[in-house]
Amino acid sequence: MPRVLLVLPSATYRARDFVAAAAALGVELSIASEEPAPLGLEDRFVTIDCSDPDASAAALADLAATTPIDAIVATDDSGVVVAAKASQLIGLPHNPPEAAAATTNKLEMRRALRNAEVPQPDYQVLGDRMPPLTYPVVVKPVSLNASRGVIRVDRPEDLAPAVERVKRIAAEAGRPGDEIIAERFVAGPEVSLEGMLWGGQLEVLAIFDKPEPLDGPYFEETMFVTPSRLPPHLLDELSATVERAATALGLTEGPIHAELRVGSGFPQVIEIAARTIGGLCGRALGFGLMNTPLEVLVLRHALGMRKGLRRSPGSSGVMMIPTPGPGTLERVGGLDDARSVAGVTGIEITVPTGATVAPPPEGDRYLGFIFARGSEPAHVETALRSAHEKLVIEIDGVPTG
Ligand code: ADP
Repeated sequence: MPRVLLVLPSATYRARDFVAAAAALGVELSIASEEPAPLGLEDRFVTIDCSDPDASAAALADLAATTPIDAIVATDDSGVVVAAKASQLIGLPHNPPEAAAATTNKLEMRRALRNAEVPQPDYQVLGDRMPPLTYPVVVKPVSLNASRGVIRVDRPEDLAPAVERVKRIAAEAGRPGDEIIAERFVAGPEVSLEGMLWGGQLEVLAIFDKPEPLDGPYFEETMFVTPSRLPPHLLDELSATVERAATALGLTEGPIHAELRVGSGFPQVIEIAARTIGGLCGRALGFGLMNTPLEVLVLRHALGMRKGLRRSPGSSGVMMIPTPGPGTLERVGGLDDARSVAGVTGIEITVPTGATVAPPPEGDRYLGFIFARGSEPAHVETALRSAHEKLVIEIDGVPTG
């Protein structure tokens, strides 16, 4: 039986889906995690620290020396460099470590894309002296994610306070020295492309529209609906742009999650990551007649098992349930009503009651996920909106909904 080593950072949403995928495929798992090894599993488990990729990669190689593995898969951004470095040590096919690292640093990513002339927003590094900027801009710390610390600024006089806020957010997230960049704000529809790289060639798995406008000043992503309703020529251009972006970064293998905006009539890369779509959103996708999950495709790719599967017919989507305000989550009500909306296939609340929550730019967790399917994207969008309207979210004693 083949064996895959999963790199699972503590804050991952995806452990359960990858473990289920391995079981479905008959793949044995070893685990690299930031948690201590469970008793009795020491020959298949290694404790790592994702912020120290060299030591972690060496620990993975040691584990592989006793329990051989066929592939390494990182489920989240924070594990991609560890997985790439360990694969290099062991001699398994993988992305080059520098390419994986560039996907976790927005400035390195921008530089690589600029060198290869891949369409993207103009950007500047904000140092002690503020360069002249053309407004509106989006300021962001280079190494956070989930829209944490991402703020749109419309006027020069608002830049300094926004930068102070971004610095505070980065420090609170354990990244006090993070560089901050300002990018031109790209207006226009936003999409995400989910794909798989095979020796540098992009297999497009799905393109999601994000039907909620993302105009800022903060960017809480909510809805993803596939297939995209953009015209086919733009979708082709999008896919070609993502493949060029992957090449520019040096990515060659495995899952890709790219976010683009169609500004000024052509796609511009906002971000590209060497992993599947965030949170539990991957559950909105299924492939082939059996509705095979995305994580099965990732494990198959890692093991070199190519099987061209197309997205299952029809439309599907997910809403990441937005956090209405900062405070203590006391209750999520209306779940039965929301689940009974036609087209809704599931709702999962992922933040426990009693937890402290905040919307972006400070917060980085969504309350949960609503999933829907339908014959048309418009039906899926309507189902997601109606289910969300039925939820009553109570924060600090104040119900919204
Ligand atoms: P993160 O990795 O934290 O998600 P991103 O750089 O992807 O950070 O930004 C999060 C969201 O903010 C994007 O999905 C997009 O909606 C918005 N955004 C970021 N940069 C820009 C930009 N230059 N122009 C327009 N929107 C942007």
